[in-house]
Amino acid sequence: MPLDVRLIDHARDPLAKLYGAYRTCYTPKTPREVWDEIGDGRIPPGTIREFVGERLKTGHSSPLEQVVFWFGISGVSRALSHQFVRHRIGISFEQQSQRYVRYKEERLDYVMPKSWEKKGLSDEYDKLMREITRVYEEALAKGIPAEDARFVLPNATPTNFQVMVNFTELLHIADLRLCWRAQWEIRQMVAMMRREVMKAVPEIGGYLQPKCGDKRMGYCDEPLKEWALCPIGKIRPHKEQLLDVFKQYRAGNLVPLDEGHLRSVEDAETE
Ligand SMILES: Cc1cc2nc3c(=O)[nH]c(=O)nc-3n(C[C@H](O)[C@H](O)[C@H](O)COP(=O)(O)OP(=O)(O)OC[C@H]3O[C@@H](n4cnc5c(N)ncnc54)[C@H](O)[C@@H]3O)c2cc1C
Repeated sequence: MPLDVRLIDHARDPLAKLYGAYRTCYTPKTPREVWDEIGDGRIPPGTIREFVGERLKTGHSSPLEQVVFWFGISGVSRALSHQFVRHRIGISFEQQSQRYVRYKEERLDYVMPKSWEKKGLSDEYDKLMREITRVYEEALAKGIPAEDARFVLPNATPTNFQVMVNFTELLHIADLRLCWRAQWEIRQMVAMMRREVMKAVPEIGGYLQPKCGDKRMGYCDEPLKEWALCPIGKIRPHKEQLLDVFKQYRAGNLVPLDEGHLRSVEDAETE
């Protein structure tokens, strides 16, 4: 069963919700007046998009909590789900139960990392999983309750979620889990969540980036040697580089160019 992510739904009219929330902060008008203006078209969609776009560039992020997304996620491993459920603020999970669900063989389609295949160990892997399935099913057949039979199931066991998450938390999850340092499977899942949001609300979906993205923190704060290995490290600055620039500035090495500097370039002889 391949990894599948579906955007089930999102808060209706998310841009208007954001406009209303931000506008309420910055206007003497009441929310009723603001929403009357939105409702009767006095605020055109272009103005809403532009206003929200400008606010998104700022650190005023609490209105983003008012936009909520629902996802259906399947075919992920329990190794992934252990990581996913560590997110605890602004997100709500429902996960397939191993107590109430008695897996049939065809539903125990274990997730196999590519690295096992690459190292020529996929047959060993499959053999072990088949053996686990056999023991699990035998345990159920002998009357061991599912909540105890599951003790033999591995991290590779597939699982499903329905998740509700607000946009602030989704941005935070993308910060961490789209980063190259995150584990491959959760990275793929969050990339698929991003694609779903992009299809539905591209105006805000574009902000779902790893933390080094131009729309997020803007620089990498992972260890320098990891940054050097990251495929997008080449196009995003590292924190150490920015601090070096700052140190040079403080040391007076980054003085603004004056007429004298420009003349020195003008007069310099070229070889
Ligand atoms: C690359 C990577 C490696 C990891 N390795 C490990 C590991 O080896 N071992 C391990 O146990 N975990 C590991 N984790 C999990 C990590 O420690 C977090 O549990 C996980 O990323 C959840 O994120 P969060 O704590 O920001 O929670 P979220 O719920 O996503 O937090 C949302 C925001 O709320 C804030 N927040 C949440 N709770 C509180 C609180 N109680 N008080 C104040 N602020 C709060 C957070 O700071 C954050 O800004 C790893 C995560 C990543 C991305």
